Amino acid sequence: MNYIMLVNKDYPLNDDLELDLINVGKNNDGEDVYLERKAGKALLKMLNDVNRLFDNEKIIVSSGYRSIDDQQNVLDYYLNIEGNNAYKRVALPGTSEHQIGLGIDIGIIKNGEYKDDLTGNEEALKWLFENAYKYGFILRYPLGKENIHGYRYEPWHFRYVGLIAKYIKENDLTLEEYVLEKTIK
Ligand SMILES: [Zn+2]
Repeated sequence: MNYIMLVNKDYPLNDDLELDLINVGKNNDGEDVYLERKAGKALLKMLNDVNRLFDNEKIIVSSGYRSIDDQQNVLDYYLNIEGNNAYKRVALPGTSEHQIGLGIDIGIIKNGEYKDDLTGNEEALKWLFENAYKYGFILRYPLGKENIHGYRYEPWHFRYVGLIAKYIKENDLTLEEYVLEKTIK
């Protein structure tokens, strides 16, 4: 598995990969969520650690691996609700890194109430922004870099990249910048 594989609008992936997936828990709708094995193990450790720290906020998984068909279903769902605005919110099938099993969306149960339209001001999320790299994760679509990663700010979406997460965090890079910088050198 190539943990720094770039999948976005410019680097689409039009076939499902064969992945070794593990279950990382249920989302708020009771659906099982899956991630690639190494990413999933790291995620479980990270959630276990962060969820000991904040009494009022518990992080749970929202969405992990999606096949190309799953991604189409998500897009269709939002197209139905909000028309063409859905294209701003949901990646086209082939362009979502949820397809490679390394991207995870999280939600928070705060004082008993579930929330997944997170702002980034949640205490547990702030902890993840600072510490996720220790588990091999980066915040994939950070604020202020929308023109580079091509999505809106998504404080709920983390991406497993492995050991290189530390370098990416310390240098304030997006995965695009890291991968393209390496290609140029
Ligand atoms: Zn996501």
